[in-house]
Amino acid sequence: MEKIVIAGSGPAGLTAALYTARAGLNPLVFEGLQPGGQLTTTTDVENYPGFDEAINGTELVMKMKRQAEKFGARFRSSEIQGSDFSRLPLKLFTSDSEVVECLSVIIATGASALYLGLSSEQKLIGKGVSACATCDGSFYRNKPVAVVGGGDSAMEEALFLSLLCSHVYLIHRRSQFRASKIMVERVTTNPKIELILDTVVEEVLDYGKGIVGGIKLKNVITGKISELRIDGLFIAIGHIPNTKPFAGQVKLDEKGFIITDSTKTNVPGVFAAGDVQDKRYRQAVTAAASGCMAALEVERYLQEINA
Ligand code: FAD
Ligand code: NAP
Repeated sequence: MEKIVIAGSGPAGLTAALYTARAGLNPLVFEGLQPGGQLTTTTDVENYPGFDEAINGTELVMKMKRQAEKFGARFRSSEIQGSDFSRLPLKLFTSDSEVVECLSVIIATGASALYLGLSSEQKLIGKGVSACATCDGSFYRNKPVAVVGGGDSAMEEALFLSLLCSHVYLIHRRSQFRASKIMVERVTTNPKIELILDTVVEEVLDYGKGIVGGIKLKNVITGKISELRIDGLFIAIGHIPNTKPFAGQVKLDEKGFIITDSTKTNVPGVFAAGDVQDKRYRQAVTAAASGCMAALEVERYLQEINA
């Protein structure tokens, strides 16, 4: 019987692993399909405290993992596919067909990229449509590309792509940006980035070639339809929480985020940390902080049940 199992290995899961390991609880972490989480898809992280020079996202989470391992956290590469929290012991069902029994769980499964949902887009994912510029940007060296979105992710993707591509169109459905001021400033002063505002993508075009060749756009104010020739389309419109394995077991909000009170879910012994329960801040440092909170709550809970 495990005392604590952690689902997810982003900043939230890794911080929870560090704290529970230092507390002598011998945590078992299921890393899932993206070891290290969302930060492994970015380049420089400039806003994680303690690094006065920017740190590479993957390097940052690998440091977190090594720190947790140093204190005895155990890691498995499989993922959690289902759960039964109806009674103790809590049960987790893994992709290795294992049933893991435990006294407490921290859900830190983060969030996944959203797409526009157009059938032409879905058909061309991996054939010019991507949700990760750091992963796929180099395929479009010296070629024109477009980024969709108006948040920090879209700004970051556009800036990264401007280093590689011949031209970057940033397409946003409004004229105001959700992104932070500093990121918007960097984008608007970048000569390679052209803003196309109040505009949505209606269709991704392949011109019969099976790879992205352009997009059909609609201005939402004037209704004007236009076509843009590009080789790559990067969707950066946010993420959905990875809560499928826990649906029906813990309370979720209307968007699927886990509802928490200081990381406690509605089920005793089950806690949630990071982006999976946070649609407001969604930062590495807030994810790490809530991983710490969840770990401290687990310690308290295990003391209460005399485990
Ligand atoms: P995630 O990082 O999403 O990690 C989730 C983990 O859960 C992964 O390891 C995954 O494999 C695992 N998982 C998922 N499902 C399962 C399952 N069923 N079973 C087991 N494991 C599972 N924030 C900043 O503060 N600064 C930045 O510069 C910054 N840049 C960013 C750049 C990009 C491109 C993106 C997308 C985000 C950026 N963010 C940044 C936001 C930051 O990455 C997230 O807020 C943070 O990673 C959330 O951490 P998390 O641990 O909650 O989840
Ligand atoms: P976000 O802040 O939720 O922004 C999503 C953007 O996509 C919004 O501009 C939204 O438009 C647009 N959008 C959503 N659905 C759309 C649709 N169907 N069609 C067209 N546009 C659509 O998401 P994010 O940019 O991924 O950022 C998530 C979190 O990570 C944020 O807290 C952010 O600060 C953080 N982050 C930080 C950094 C950094 O600090 N360097 C980098 C990346 C991410 P509307 O504005 O009209 O809703």
